[in-house]
Amino acid sequence: MIFVVDDEANNRLLLKTYLTAEGYDVRFARNGQEALRTVSDIQPDVIVLDVMLPNMDGYDVCRELKASEEFKYIPIILATALRGNEERIRGIEAGADDFISKPYNKVELTTRIKSLVRIGTLYRALAEKVEELEIAKKKLNKLAVTDGLTDLFNYRAFQHRLHLEIQRSKRFGLPLSLLMIDIDHFKRYNDTFGHPAGDTLLREFAEMLRTHVREVDCPARYGGEEFVLILPGTAKQSALIVGEKIRNLIQETDFSGTRVTVSIGIASYPEDTDTRDMLITLADQALYRAKEEGRNRTILCPDTGVQK
Ligand code: GH3
Ligand code: MG
Ligand code: MG
Repeated sequence: MIFVVDDEANNRLLLKTYLTAEGYDVRFARNGQEALRTVSDIQPDVIVLDVMLPNMDGYDVCRELKASEEFKYIPIILATALRGNEERIRGIEAGADDFISKPYNKVELTTRIKSLVRIGTLYRALAEKVEELEIAKKKLNKLAVTDGLTDLFNYRAFQHRLHLEIQRSKRFGLPLSLLMIDIDHFKRYNDTFGHPAGDTLLREFAEMLRTHVREVDCPARYGGEEFVLILPGTAKQSALIVGEKIRNLIQETDFSGTRVTVSIGIASYPEDTDTRDMLITLADQALYRAKEEGRNRTILCPDTGVQK
């Protein structure tokens, strides 16, 4: 479909004759406003746009079309009676793809249109590919930060997130706590019920974590049957309450006919340390203590309280 924008009836008739003879469908507008109003319905392959139009000239129409996401890939031929360089420069700056001189010449017109239809097809194919790439890129970015089994943040994303959250806490003078949560005797669970059942438990466990923490809290899978929870804006004693809530929730939950318990270690910024790596180490040490002292408990670093 070729869209011709020309205010002179003679020109419109002439172009209709030339273009229909070449097998093109042709639609018309008599001025810029009409062109902008109807282009969406017409969805042309190429636009032949007269420069000299009443009210709004061809440059303005061209500029407006090229600025729009919807129409920027439609090739535009500016038709001008003027052959000067200045007009061409203005046209190019307005986004025109090609020029044709008036009065219209059949061969010039049809060859230019043929080549621009071809270019238009390539533009659209390219635009589609760009869109596909954008979607693929988003998917890849999500995959790179997601744990495949549980759909929680993975180890790498957790490290990055903890870094950002500590920075933020520093900037705003807020505390932050880190919980390390490890399922007790999970090997035994796997041995008894099988690895696939173990996987199911990990998924259900992750889902529980996700649904029982605040929007800003960030649960992640640290690895294996070990999970972490970043609690921004939360000091140690409040983190203990969260840890106990999770621990109780887990031990009261029926996982395919059986119960499991967790051990939890907690370290806090700035109370215990102000670096990310040390925070992880200290939470891990507290978790180790929780295991040593009999499991199914929450331990604060450095042993300021034991909850059972
Ligand atoms: P503890 O109370 O000391 O933590 O004992 P545990 O058995 O939980 O700890 P251990 O580190 O000895 O064993 C962890 C088990 O977790 C062993 C491993 O097979 C299992 N595990 C790790 N990742 C996965 C997984 O993705 N799926 C399943 N099903 N099991 C996993
Ligand atoms: Mg374990
Ligand atoms: Mg473990």
